[in-house]
Amino acid sequence: MEDKDFSQVIEDIGAVISAHHSFLLMSHVRPDGDAIGSQIALGFSLMAMGKEVYLVNEDGVPESLEFLKGSEKVTLPPKEAIEVDVAIALDTATKPRLGDKSLHAASKAKVWLNIDHHISNPAYGDVNLINARKPATGQIVYELLIALGYPIPDETRDAIYVAVSTDTGSFQYASTTAETYVLGADLIRRGLNVGKINADTYDNHPYRRLELMRALLNTLQISEDGQLAYWELLDKTRMDLDLQPDDSEGLIDMIRSVKGVRVAVFFEELPDGKIRVSMRSKDSGVNVCDVAMTFGGGGHALAAGIRMAGPLVDAKPRVLSALRSALASQNNF
Ligand code: AMP
Ligand code: MN
Ligand code: MN
Repeated sequence: MEDKDFSQVIEDIGAVISAHHSFLLMSHVRPDGDAIGSQIALGFSLMAMGKEVYLVNEDGVPESLEFLKGSEKVTLPPKEAIEVDVAIALDTATKPRLGDKSLHAASKAKVWLNIDHHISNPAYGDVNLINARKPATGQIVYELLIALGYPIPDETRDAIYVAVSTDTGSFQYASTTAETYVLGADLIRRGLNVGKINADTYDNHPYRRLELMRALLNTLQISEDGQLAYWELLDKTRMDLDLQPDDSEGLIDMIRSVKGVRVAVFFEELPDGKIRVSMRSKDSGVNVCDVAMTFGGGGHALAAGIRMAGPLVDAKPRVLSALRSALASQNNF
């Protein structure tokens, strides 16, 4: 999106917000820090303006994000559709990724806003603020609030930081820009306690996460050329260790960090029999979003995911062979 479009879309979103009173904010299933953080950030700003705001996520708030002030306002979707004027999807690449119950809760909304940074987003809103160059939806929400002069209460300030920090691997990934650091500086000037919020985000894991790491390391494999590394989480391990869905968040970075590895993959057997695939590329020549999209998934060039039919013994070789082809075609240049 060009900057001219960006300011036009911001203006359009401002007009929709001014013209309406009630808002339902949602984000993707199995929410991460950017999903929940963006909901809390925009939600509390709208509440501070006197709007009626509902925050709903198909899977609720993961235990690891419960420290966020305002997270208690994010609920599971109610059975009945909510009487709201506007539905807002945040950080959600495709509409179905909001989840069936959330979509039902939103079914009475008259206007849909779609705010996201996934390159694979097909622009399913009435107004779409999508910019794949932004490292996090939280950064887009921040720029929107600043541009429109909306309030930034403490809940919003902290949630923006966590959204951006978690989606940039603590301000490390190549998607991080000068604007990202300006955002961080501005939030600290606004009173953010940076030491505490990072400790709450990164130094606060349950012991079972380390046990999970041990189990994953036992399944670690690497291709002969050392470019493709992968591990898997079996449903049995999930049950044995009594895991929560967010316990594995970020662990893929361990295999991504290995010297020579260009693509890291995490296979996970879900309780419903489907397979969740997480992929990370360290190489701008290997676009894992393209590979994900051939299996109905999506995401970003360097971080993408798939939810596909099981069993694992069928899904795994299909994905690995697609990735081997992507790596091979890159090696030929
Ligand atoms: P993850 O590996 O789950 O951290 O996801 C990496 C990126 O890909 C995130 O930005 C996700 O929102 C996106 N993503 C993951 N799974 C899917 C999917 N099934 N469809 C579309 N996007 C996905
Ligand atoms: Mn996300
Ligand atoms: Mn995101």
